[in-house]
Amino acid sequence: MTAIAEVMDYDEVLERYDPVLGLEVHVELNTNTKMFCGCANVFGGEPNTHVCPVCLGMPGALPAVNGKAIESAMRIGLALNCEIAEWCRFARKNYFYPDMPKNFQTSQYDEPIAFNGYLDVELDDGSTFRVDIERAHMEEDTGKSLHVGGATGRIHGADYSLLDYNRAGVPLIEIVTKPLVGTGERAPEVARAYVAALRDLLRGLDVSDVRMDQGSLRCDANVSLMPKGTTEFGTRTETKNVNSLRSVERAVRYEMTRHAAVLAGGGTIRQETRHFDESTATTRAGRVKETAEDYRYFPEPDLVPIAPSREWVEELRASLPEPPWVRRKTIQQEWGLTDLELRDLVNADALDLVAATVDAGAKPDDARSWWVSYLSQQAKVLNKELAELPITPAQVARVSALVADGSLTNKLARAVVDGVLAGEGEPDQVVEQRGLKVVSDDSALTAAVDEALAAQPDVAEKIRSGKVAAAGAIVGAVMKATKGQADAKRVRELIIERCS
Ligand code: ADP
Ligand code: MG
Ligand code: ZN
Repeated sequence: MTAIAEVMDYDEVLERYDPVLGLEVHVELNTNTKMFCGCANVFGGEPNTHVCPVCLGMPGALPAVNGKAIESAMRIGLALNCEIAEWCRFARKNYFYPDMPKNFQTSQYDEPIAFNGYLDVELDDGSTFRVDIERAHMEEDTGKSLHVGGATGRIHGADYSLLDYNRAGVPLIEIVTKPLVGTGERAPEVARAYVAALRDLLRGLDVSDVRMDQGSLRCDANVSLMPKGTTEFGTRTETKNVNSLRSVERAVRYEMTRHAAVLAGGGTIRQETRHFDESTATTRAGRVKETAEDYRYFPEPDLVPIAPSREWVEELRASLPEPPWVRRKTIQQEWGLTDLELRDLVNADALDLVAATVDAGAKPDDARSWWVSYLSQQAKVLNKELAELPITPAQVARVSALVADGSLTNKLARAVVDGVLAGEGEPDQVVEQRGLKVVSDDSALTAAVDEALAAQPDVAEKIRSGKVAAAGAIVGAVMKATKGQADAKRVRELIIERCS
C-alpha cells in the first residue's frame, strides 16, 4: 500500500501557486451502430454478443466509417464554436492492451475533425468563464476488462480476467481543452461547471446519452501548478475517468493540494496518470504517461480521408438546436422563475429532470420542489447525483398527481417516494403495498370522528356550542387514529357536520 500523500491547505495553495487546468472529455456517441462496422451500439448486453470480425480486429477485416458519427462529430464541433477540417484522416495509435483486439486504436492525431473553439461556462456566482477548446477528434472505444478474484477489482491480485468486446469500436469523440489559466481559486469549480455545461450541450444535440455513471461521458482532469508570479507551466498529472461532476471538482482540488505539498517540500511532480478514489476523495498514481512518440502514430491506410463539403458544414450549423443557456431563459419565462430560482435549479443539476417531470404532467412548481428539496436531500444521503437516483421524472409526476387529487398528503407522498427509491416499484404499487392512501372514505372517517368525539366529550360540547376552533383537538385525534392518512380538511368538515 502506498501512504496517503501529504496535502497543503487549500488557501495556502492559492497564496503560493496558480493552477493550470486541462480537461479531456470522452463522449460515446448514441449512433445505432459502431464506428467502423455494423454492430449494434448499445450499453451492456450479454458479453461478446455485439461483435464482428471488424471490431474484433480479425486479420483482413476492413473498416468502413459510420457517416452518422462524422455528422455528430461535426455538430459537436460547431456547437463548440470550432473550425471544421476541410480534409482530415484517421490515424493508428499503437499500443497493446487486451481489451483492444487490433493492438491499435483508430483515432485522429494531428488532423482532428474540429479544432480551435470555445465554450462560455457560467459559474455559480453568475459570472462566465471562457474555456478554449483545442480540438474535438473522433476515435473508437475499447472493450472492457473484468478482473475477477482480487479484493479491489483491479488487475493486481486478481485470479483471472474476463474480456467483453461489446464496447470495442463504439464511436467516441474526445474533446480537449487548451491549458486553462486564470481560474485561480475557482479551478475546481470551473472544471465541474465546464463538464456540466458540455454535458448539457451534448444532451441538447442528442448525440450521446451523456451518462457519467455508465461511462458514456468520461472526464480526465489535467492539473499543474506554477509558483505565483511565474508563467511557465508546471508538470501536469492526469486524473483518469472521474465519473461524476462532484468527483471532477474534488479531484482537481485534491490534486492542487497534493502538487503544492510536493512542490513546497522541494520535490518534483511526475507526469503520470492518476486514479480518483471516490470513497477517500484522493488520487493514487497510475502509469507514467507515454509521450506521443511511444504510440507510433501513423495515418490509417484502410480508411479514406474525410473531406466534408462546406455546404454540409453550413447545413449542420444552421440546424443546430437552441443552446442550453437560451433554452434556460425560455424555461425561466414559462415557469415564472426568478434568476435565483433558476440558478438554484441549474446548480442542483435539476433543470432537465424538472423539465421532464413537467412534460410528464406535473406543475412546474411541484416538480421543482420535489427535485430541489426532498430528492436533492435524498441524493446527498445516498451520495449520488440527482440523475442517478432510482426514480424517474414520470414517477415523480405520478406522485405529484396523487397529491394534487388529494389521494396523498405531502407526508405520505414522501413515504411513497422513499418506497420508489428503495426499489419497491411504481408509486401506485408502493401506495398499495405500504397502505399509504389518504383515508377519504367518509364512512370510515365518520366512524373515527364519532369515536374521537365520544372520547373527548368536553371538547365535543364546546364545538356543539359554537366554538369551532376547538375542532383542532378532534382533527388531531382522528389523524392519530388513521396514522396520518386522513384528509384533514375533510375530517374538519365531518366534525362540524356531526356537531351541528
Ligand atoms: P494526452 O495525450 O497526454 O492526454 P492531450 O493533449 O490529449 O494529452 O491532453 C492534455 C490536456 O492537458 C489538454 O487539455 C492540455 O491543454 C492540458 N495541458 C497541457 N499541459 C498542461 C499543463 N502543464 N498543466 C495543465 N494542463 C495541461
Ligand atoms: Mg488525451
Ligand atoms: Zn463489429
